[in-house]
Amino acid sequence: MEVAIIGAGIGGLTTALALQKAHIPFRIYEGAPGLEPVGAGIIIAHNAMQALKAWGITDQIVGLGNRISVMNLTRPDLSNLSTNDLRKFEQKSGLHNIAIHRADLHRVLVDAVGADHIVLNKRLKTVGEAEDGFQLSFEDGTISQTNYLIGADGLRSRVRSALFENGQLRDAGQNCWRGVAHYELPDRYHHELNEAWGKGKRFGFVPLNDRQVYWYLLIDNDLAEAKSDVLPFLRDFHPLAAQLVEATPTSKWIISPIFDLKPMGKWSTGRACLIGDAAHATTPNLGQGACQAIEDAYVLGELLKRCSLEDAIRKYPSIRMAKANHIVDTSWRIGKVAHARNRFTIGLRNLIMKATPEWVNHKQLEKIFSIEIV
Ligand SMILES: Cc1cc2nc3c(=O)[nH]c(=O)nc-3n(C[C@H](O)[C@H](O)[C@H](O)COP(=O)(O)OP(=O)(O)OC[C@H]3O[C@@H](n4cnc5c(N)ncnc54)[C@H](O)[C@@H]3O)c2cc1C
Repeated sequence: MEVAIIGAGIGGLTTALALQKAHIPFRIYEGAPGLEPVGAGIIIAHNAMQALKAWGITDQIVGLGNRISVMNLTRPDLSNLSTNDLRKFEQKSGLHNIAIHRADLHRVLVDAVGADHIVLNKRLKTVGEAEDGFQLSFEDGTISQTNYLIGADGLRSRVRSALFENGQLRDAGQNCWRGVAHYELPDRYHHELNEAWGKGKRFGFVPLNDRQVYWYLLIDNDLAEAKSDVLPFLRDFHPLAAQLVEATPTSKWIISPIFDLKPMGKWSTGRACLIGDAAHATTPNLGQGACQAIEDAYVLGELLKRCSLEDAIRKYPSIRMAKANHIVDTSWRIGKVAHARNRFTIGLRNLIMKATPEWVNHKQLEKIFSIEIV
């Protein structure tokens, strides 16, 4: 019996960890020629850290990343609108939200899985039926057979288009610029994420260590057509925003349009399922896309402690779907609210945010950070 995992992203690699723990043989087919992921920083939240703890890799991640104990939403000048203090979660679980360079996270996951389980340059083209499983055809002309198939091949999943109704991609109408600046932030920011909401745009930054700061800037598509010159958009933000962007070589900026996947009602069929962005790609507004992929893999692994792989594949969506889809929808709505452009709407939004008691935010986070395994 062998499982083919398509995609060596965070979803594919953590699924491999879950299978490994259950002593189930697998092979990961990755379309890219190398394992270094494109990306700047990422925040691995509490829920995902719980899963990573079960696979024994939290120490490496904590060691390479930076603990984030406070998340602030602010006005463009960094004056506060809303604070999420994560210290209560930290005290309860002993785990932290960690900001880490994507390349570091990826390296930890690849080392834990073992690079010899990953076949590179294998871009899946089509999926056919085979006796006892599936026939996989790759763009290099090769063919493989597998008994089980897990599509962890991201937003534009080929596994999804082959075996499921192809899902509907939604364009959020925003572009995202990301980078990692070599910059020493004032101490007060060291364990904080700050995201400043402007008019049709927002800027966030979080330190990855005491020398590197991950920053991101989102702008409505119709406002910023020229992608190379974003500094004028930062004039009404706190000077730190422009300083961080200027401290990052333009060649290192990552620019991506923001899409999600309209919630789907089905992620598994027979001996195949979808994991991570392939099943529930979300806008980045809650910082939960990768965390949800990790949670998928964790739940699959927990199910494998008590049932067969076929049953686990069948049951896992019923445990995960409500939460993942809630995150997709909530994140989509936050993206719209964050980019309000009407002065009156912005004023009202800011008033509501200022007036919302912290326990309300805490309750919402509690829901996101808890993992259910029914
Ligand atoms: C701007 C931005 C910021 C974000 N910030 C955060 C954050 O702070 N925290 C967080 O949790 N999430 C964040 N996310 C979301 C997160 O990046 C994704 O949810 C996560 O990477 C999904 O992992 P995945 O493995 O499911 O898919 P992917 O990362 O897309 O990986 C899919 C893999 O499959 C491979 N592949 C694709 N097609 C094929 C094929 N046909 N054959 C073989 N291989 C294939 C790809 O090369 C890739 O390696 C952010 C996203 C964006 C856009």
